[in-house]
Amino acid sequence: MANPLYEAMPTTVFAVMSGLAREHGAINLGQGYPDEPGPLAIRQKAADATLNGDNQYPPTFGLPELRQAVAAHYARFQGLDLDWASEVTITSGGTEALAAAFLGLIAPGDEVVLFQPLYDSYAPMVRRAGGVPRLVRLEPPHWRFDRAMLEAAFTPRTRLVVLNNPLNPTATVCPDEDLALLAAFCVAHDAVAVCDEVWEHVVFDGRAHRPLIAYPGMRERTVKIGSAGKMFALTGWKIGFLCAAPKLTAVLAKAHQFLTFTTAPNLQAAVAWGLENSADWFAAMPGDLARSRDRLTEALRREGFGVLPSQGTYFLNIDLAASGVREDDRSFCLRSVTEAGVAAIPVSAFYEEAPVTSIARLCFSKRDETLDEGARRLAKARDLSLRAHNAGR
Ligand code: PMP
Repeated sequence: MANPLYEAMPTTVFAVMSGLAREHGAINLGQGYPDEPGPLAIRQKAADATLNGDNQYPPTFGLPELRQAVAAHYARFQGLDLDWASEVTITSGGTEALAAAFLGLIAPGDEVVLFQPLYDSYAPMVRRAGGVPRLVRLEPPHWRFDRAMLEAAFTPRTRLVVLNNPLNPTATVCPDEDLALLAAFCVAHDAVAVCDEVWEHVVFDGRAHRPLIAYPGMRERTVKIGSAGKMFALTGWKIGFLCAAPKLTAVLAKAHQFLTFTTAPNLQAAVAWGLENSADWFAAMPGDLARSRDRLTEALRREGFGVLPSQGTYFLNIDLAASGVREDDRSFCLRSVTEAGVAAIPVSAFYEEAPVTSIARLCFSKRDETLDEGARRLAKARDLSLRAHNAGR
């Protein structure tokens, strides 16, 4: 009756944890969304566009004003030279952009290099498009790949490689030398890189985002994906940007046209305005988030937790093994939400095979009181976990 891939697909860990968080009245540090409502001026523009603008079908490529604003934005922040008319498509979020890239670029039997831990839509969508995942396994604390790992994954059948940078859930930014290495592999294997860069503005401590499309040989073979939801902390808006050389864009646009055809025009208009008028927001947002990251880091360290560095994204990872926890990440996260009232995400859920099972992901884009209480409750969860472990011995 159903496609076997969907029939066999389990409920995502995000839905499970958020459901348990609601059921147990827990603080939700699991799913990645901010407590704050997002920039008022941009939301007002959306309201104005809803009341006074055109609310009928926009063009399938997106509103020209938004496509122009996206090209100008990436020229300003990343030194790119995208032609808005032939290289920028607006999608319904990064998620739709990813789906369009996989459906548009993968032919049955093509191999697709994916890095674990991986965002949950990649492997199912690659398979649904007929692709064969070739997994590279990254590990804490650095979560880096090297030449030997790429040599083991790339073959003559490699068609695509999917890079998420900054990387959710590890909160790491791919070092320049690793990007250069990956670019060289793409060129040598004539592969296309699908770059999920939805977190490109959420990088801390003075870092600047380096897009893979800017590396030698990559301009014509990279699909760069962005998300206004992540740029403006409006995660429900689902406005994505799909940027690629004209030949790739022509194909991607065909895939996009039969996924959603287009995207809400009022939100597109507001994002176009936001990209042109938010220099202050882009200057302040990473620092504000870094303060929340530091607050949660310090609260957790005071409670005796080992915390991995967070270079970008809304996330911070606890090293459970280094924090005195004797159970795996999934058991610990289930215990935290049901017995201690705080939800976190087990990082093992981001692996297709051979999971790392000692890391729990927390979202810190929350109010100070929530972070402080979250750390206290996690300490309680660890005490309960230790007690259970000792009783079981
Ligand atoms: N890719 C990654 C790595 C993400 O973390 C997210 C959002 N959590 C998305 C894609 C989806 O982006 P959007 O909400 O714009 O669809």
